[in-house]
Amino acid sequence: MASKQFTIQDREVIELPKPLDQLSNSELERKSCIGRVMTYTLRSLTNQLVDRGFQWLLPVALSQSTDPLWPDPGASIEKRVEVDIYGKTVRTTTSMIIHKLIAASLVYQKLFILSPNIRIEKAERAYTGKHIYEFTQLDFEVRDASSKDVMRTVEDVICNLLTQLKRDMKEELTALCRCDTLTLPKKPFKVYDRAELEAKYGACWEEAISKEISEPVWITNIPREFYDFEDFKTGKWDNYDLFMPQFGEVLSGAKREWDYEKILKKIERDKVNKSNYALLLKLAKEGKLKPSAGGGIGIERLVGWISGVKHIAETQPFPRVPGTVYEL
Ligand code: AMP
Ligand code: MG
Repeated sequence: MASKQFTIQDREVIELPKPLDQLSNSELERKSCIGRVMTYTLRSLTNQLVDRGFQWLLPVALSQSTDPLWPDPGASIEKRVEVDIYGKTVRTTTSMIIHKLIAASLVYQKLFILSPNIRIEKAERAYTGKHIYEFTQLDFEVRDASSKDVMRTVEDVICNLLTQLKRDMKEELTALCRCDTLTLPKKPFKVYDRAELEAKYGACWEEAISKEISEPVWITNIPREFYDFEDFKTGKWDNYDLFMPQFGEVLSGAKREWDYEKILKKIERDKVNKSNYALLLKLAKEGKLKPSAGGGIGIERLVGWISGVKHIAETQPFPRVPGTVYEL
């Protein structure tokens, strides 16, 4: 994601979220208010998915195989966290994409995971307001689904959440000054092609579109990691990001690759370490990897947008601001 250049001026504009013990009484009350919106949001999202037949998987924290986060123009990782256990090198979860693809292919037709992701973002990202070094994705995947299926489901789930919030959380939304400004978007959400945005706005298209929109919109056809479906004939990517005003990208998703030759070609093209994806490649070669589509919603960005925060770490009880490590 093209992030705004950090300047001294930004440092004055965005106050970095503080740990609990440094908050004043009114700041603690605001924290509690955002916490109630977070609880409500988690309940609504998980209930809606369970009601639609999704199975709720528990996350993993350490694996040999995790998301390479490459090539993604938005990735800015300062350090990858690896540790040796039982004679093997494991990495902290950057996303559960590989686990999702295998679990959806072999067992669970529809699944979701509230998955903690660790991405040690560069310290200069402290002031973007939308990056934290530990965050939670609501990661979901559906075997045999199309991009359209997933986009329609996400629109329904987000609109239901907003309707319920506006009905049940009036007091909190008023305290957060979001009662009037948080409006119900029209479905289906508008769709933009990344290539057209790039032609119009240049390399900073993400910044530009985030400022321009007043409702959630989809952006499709974004070149990135090997597991998103790419049509080799047209060069188009069958993927989609949900962008929201202010924070930009709140969800990334795609139809997935399942063909062995294509996956192998893309891993080699991207110069990604093939040995970290041996199981995925083996299953693909045996025809056991199935077509699927899914996505991951950044919970702190979603709740940050709903709550109207300046920095998404305000939605965390224990802020994970890039460059700053508090005791808790
Ligand atoms: P990605 O796998 O990079 O597409 O991330 C999936 C979603 O997680 C994004 O759409 C964001 O909502 C969220 N996300 C990614 N990186 C961060 C970060 N450093 N801090 C907070 N949320 C993030
Ligand atoms: Mg993304």
